[in-house]
Amino acid sequence: MRHIAIIGSGPAGYYTAEAAQKQWGDGVRVDIFDLLPVPYGLIRTGVAPDHQSIKGVAKRYEGTALSENVRFVGNVTIGEDVSIAELQGLYDAVVLATGAPNDKPAGIPGEGLENVFGSAAFVGWYNGHPQFAKLSPDLSGRHAVVIGNGNVALDVARILSKTADEFHGSDIVAHALHALQKSHIEQITILGRRGPHQIAMTPKELGELGHLTRACPRVDPADLPAEEEDLFLEPGQRKSVTHLRSFAAIPEEFRCDKPVEIEFDFFASPRAILGDGTVSGIEIERTALDSEGRASGTGETYTIPCSLVVTAIGYKTSPIPGVPFEEGAGRFANDEGRILPGLYCVGWARRGPSGTIGTNRPDGFGVIEKIAEDLDSGALYHEVKQGRRGFDALAAERKLEVVTFRDWKKIEAEEEARARTGAPREKFVAVEDMIKARGE
Ligand code: NAP
Repeated sequence: MRHIAIIGSGPAGYYTAEAAQKQWGDGVRVDIFDLLPVPYGLIRTGVAPDHQSIKGVAKRYEGTALSENVRFVGNVTIGEDVSIAELQGLYDAVVLATGAPNDKPAGIPGEGLENVFGSAAFVGWYNGHPQFAKLSPDLSGRHAVVIGNGNVALDVARILSKTADEFHGSDIVAHALHALQKSHIEQITILGRRGPHQIAMTPKELGELGHLTRACPRVDPADLPAEEEDLFLEPGQRKSVTHLRSFAAIPEEFRCDKPVEIEFDFFASPRAILGDGTVSGIEIERTALDSEGRASGTGETYTIPCSLVVTAIGYKTSPIPGVPFEEGAGRFANDEGRILPGLYCVGWARRGPSGTIGTNRPDGFGVIEKIAEDLDSGALYHEVKQGRRGFDALAAERKLEVVTFRDWKKIEAEEEARARTGAPREKFVAVEDMIKARGE
């Protein structure tokens, strides 16, 4: 019997479990740990609440979770309740599928001012992540700035501009929905340090901005390269740029009907966030691209007054003491998922925060291949591991309050029962409430 511990129950974790089942069938036992009492990581607290079709993939993970040889072990913090070294003593292989939950800092003055948030925190707030549920952003000002030209920046801008009706069918948490309904924001500037051809926004997500009830995107036609240059773009990117061109062509009369503007400010690199205690503006330097497509400052600066700043410039994995880490890339040091024989990483913890949810599937299968190689080659120490029996003994000794998948199903049923009309669920946002909801 092989015993595998996976740390993190998001897409990378569940695809790895699925791959282990395919590889060894009934000859493997997989325990999937999560620090929260609820599974699915990014699907629950990262994917935008108005993108329910993407969240549908959780049904596939449930298929894996419900099989006899895979267990969910929730409410256990690796590194506090139990160490990586202890898990390595109990399981043949330990796989870190911990994602990239921390914001990359912008590294500019003023990041610590009030009402300046990283997207991990801001997205966590509207998605009800227990760590960020109390964030309470002040939306009483007029102007918000979102830094970054990726899909997360789009998510943030879209959520800030939607009406209550547009959240129908979403699982945005009640505290965020109420705050957004009272929001006074009418100008959202999305800052890109490079140009329209360098955006990291995908066509479907960008296209959504053109169909919002009360918000209208604005692109300055002068920022767009000559149309024939689009031919050199890869087809997806070309489609995204076509959306930007259509935004640039929106007539002014149409804009007048929409009280909220989402403005793309390209070739604009943030230099400092300004304010006394709380944010009041952002200083920006105009950039130009060099021959390699990198942005460099032109020396021309200007200031945008604003009352909310969200940085959406990428994420970092949390380092774990004793596990080799690549600081610059914000992920574990690894060779195709192998950190060292017996210890592996997968998903964003392996390759950094890029790609779609589906990208994690080949990652999961790849890491299981590496584990199989190490088991077969004798690279792993061949003492018989205790696996889940050993973990259960440790958990009992330490009086850990482990949450099982069956418990999660009770929490899920409670969340569904308390959903507002049309919503799939109303999430619990406090760990204590999740634990309470599973009952005795
Ligand atoms: P991302 O795609 O890597 O985009 C980060 C953006 O931040 C880039 O435009 C980057 O510009 C900019 N940036 C980085 N450092 C900066 C700095 N110091 N100052 C100014 N700008 C800076 O990251 P993301 O948006 O966080 O998304 C993470 C992953 O999740 C991506 O793979 C994304 O596609 C995926 N995602 C997908 C969806 C969806 O499919 N619906 C939704 C959300 C997220 P440069 O290009 O110049 O570096």
